[in-house]
Amino acid sequence: MTTRRKLQPLDALVSPRYTQVSTYARLPHDRDLQDVDVVFIGIPFDGGTTFRSGARMGPQAVRENSRLLRPYHMFLDVSPFEVFNVVDYGDVDVIPGSFQETAHAISHTFRPILDHGIIPLICGGDHSVTLPVLKELAYIHGPLNLIHFDSHFDFWDAYWGQKYTHGTWLRRSLEEGLLRHVAQAGIRGPQFSREDLAYAASQHILVRTIKDFHHQGVTEALRPILDMMPDQEPLYVSWDIDVVDPAYAMATGTPEVGGLTSWQALECLRALVGKRLVGLDIVEVAPAYDAAGAPTSLLAANLFYEGLSVMAKNYEQGIRAYPNA
Ligand code: MN
Ligand code: MN
Repeated sequence: MTTRRKLQPLDALVSPRYTQVSTYARLPHDRDLQDVDVVFIGIPFDGGTTFRSGARMGPQAVRENSRLLRPYHMFLDVSPFEVFNVVDYGDVDVIPGSFQETAHAISHTFRPILDHGIIPLICGGDHSVTLPVLKELAYIHGPLNLIHFDSHFDFWDAYWGQKYTHGTWLRRSLEEGLLRHVAQAGIRGPQFSREDLAYAASQHILVRTIKDFHHQGVTEALRPILDMMPDQEPLYVSWDIDVVDPAYAMATGTPEVGGLTSWQALECLRALVGKRLVGLDIVEVAPAYDAAGAPTSLLAANLFYEGLSVMAKNYEQGIRAYPNA
């Protein structure tokens, strides 16, 4: 009989925060999936962008700016690294310039992770990477409920005749039958036309715009979304960093003014305690556009911590991402 491995982040009281190689939350970089519950995994692909590229550098910047994370979440009263063995799995070996080849690489990399009943925290990359991830998760869990935080709809049909971009992944996901209930949160900015809203309605997508968040507050703005999605059904959260205001998260390819604050963003994820969260991605961090001190990457690192803590809290309350785990 072998004992279960215990995997822990480096202790800042022993190893100063700025030392050692960068991994997410100073966790072990490990590809042995034995006894692992959650992986942080980068998908540094930005060939799906339609404006400023640079999200391929997201995972490394998020890792570098995750050095300050501490092991206890006081608002949720949970120690996620005690509840779960978490590792930094490294990155998918993407194929720059080829979405199709990258999608194969994502599939190849995710299959064993999900077969081990491991929850992925996925760091983009641009938003196009969400489609192949959803495909793998739906293969395991069946059609997923999706909460899509973004300032953009991302359900346009094509850009320049191209069907696979960061602005089309949601339409492809719907066409491929990967999703059950879909909600979008934080939508704002100028649209192409009224037809955009008509498409959302035609697909029964619940849209909560940024107006709902600013006028009603996070709790009320999210309430119809949470009411629509039964707790026990598998829920995936896809988080485009541009849902946050560029004042807090300027390092992204398609910024839109008038967004969430950092605090509102954290509260949005915290509100998901009790939901069966099977995965979380945070995409579109393009660190070259950041201010000194990298506030965007710092926020992304903390949003992952928030999502992980929600998953840990759920686990303590008997809610399992994989029903047979
Ligand atoms: Mn966006
Ligand atoms: Mn997006």
